[in-house]
Amino acid sequence: MKKTGFTTTSLNVAYAKPDPHNSLQMPLYETVAFEFDSAEKMEANFKGEYIAHVYSRTSSPTVEYFELKLKALTGSYAVLAVSSGMAAIAGSILAIAKSGENIISGNRLFGHTYALFQDTLPGLGIEARFSDLTDASEIENLIDTKTRAIYFETVTNPQLEIADIEMLSAVAKKHDIILIADSTMTPPNVFCAGKLGVNIEVVSTTKYISGGATSFGGAIIDHGNFDWTINPNLSKYYDKFGKNAFIAKLRKNIYRNTGGSMTPQTAKMMIQGLDILELRVEKCYKNCMALGAFFESNPKIIRVDYPGIKADLRFQLSEKYFNGIPGTIMTFDLESKEACFDFMDKLKIIRRATNLNDNKTLIIHPHSTIYAEFNEVERKTAGIRDAMMRLSVGIENVEDLICDIEQALG
Ligand SMILES: *Cc1c(COP(=O)(O)O)cnc(C)c1O
Repeated sequence: MKKTGFTTTSLNVAYAKPDPHNSLQMPLYETVAFEFDSAEKMEANFKGEYIAHVYSRTSSPTVEYFELKLKALTGSYAVLAVSSGMAAIAGSILAIAKSGENIISGNRLFGHTYALFQDTLPGLGIEARFSDLTDASEIENLIDTKTRAIYFETVTNPQLEIADIEMLSAVAKKHDIILIADSTMTPPNVFCAGKLGVNIEVVSTTKYISGGATSFGGAIIDHGNFDWTINPNLSKYYDKFGKNAFIAKLRKNIYRNTGGSMTPQTAKMMIQGLDILELRVEKCYKNCMALGAFFESNPKIIRVDYPGIKADLRFQLSEKYFNGIPGTIMTFDLESKEACFDFMDKLKIIRRATNLNDNKTLIIHPHSTIYAEFNEVERKTAGIRDAMMRLSVGIENVEDLICDIEQALG
């Protein structure tokens, strides 16, 4: 049969084991432990000869079903669900690098990822070397025999810069290092990481996938396209688990020993979120395009950035990598910071909050909030203007959003 579309696939992923009551929804298995029929089976399980759920910190049926769905939807080799996006990022790095080794990272990052790389990893002896990821020779100059990965975000926030994924993949391949993408901004219905040479995808499922800011979660996606024998931290796992080496190390070492697994309740919400993901993203995208046209035509708006708009410098890359849907975050500028604050305070439908991909449209002034601890030079380097606002566009009826913006502009 022909390969089904995103939503059809999501709605029809089979459970790992059939439900005894033929339930049409994956039940919520709210339990910590699972029982064995016999002492012999129990022994076989602990020897690794009989696979079964044992204790929910390591695996459980509802979380497993979320992982199976995400695996089907991303066409990937294996998926592990964890407690948050930050847990996914931290765990992935800990699995592939140890003290004395390093990773190369983009210098425009989600704030807490930057803090993890800058403040936490050095304490463990792992160095993050920050680079301008548009410059292949700068990246190559930073690579040495201890470099284990190149780490990047598909679309940076709030600059909305798009990574040259083909170039990054070529550099990573040439040096036999792992390419890790944080694809939180570009959901799996618009972005196929594995086809572009990404080896590991990390996602904050808190954002799009949760179905509208319902719960915290993260996912680590192994695209099955890296030879784990090359990485000295995984070769031991390769001997035992073969192609599953990376996810096996995460499950049986990193998360088992440090915690940070996804709860069954959260997985249940993530499952629901996946089924309506495509619908939501399409609606948010349409709203972004309508708002973009409105902003472009309004003289009070000094500047608008959304790579989905033809006039945006990054439109070609957005078409190439994301089918023209580079996420649904946009920014726009008024004439001053004061004008931004006045505008934000007058809004009645758009909410003042810091999150991405809620069902509600959210607004924030990054310069005075997310970048509050930066000095002016650092903000400039990071591309943060004091008259810029970030909109995370939701699924409201767009005429209501435009009406709200028009009244707040005065
Ligand atoms: C939100 C976010 C994270 C962190 O995810 P949490 O689920 O909040 O831990 C990481 N990367 C990006 C790009 C994000 O937007």
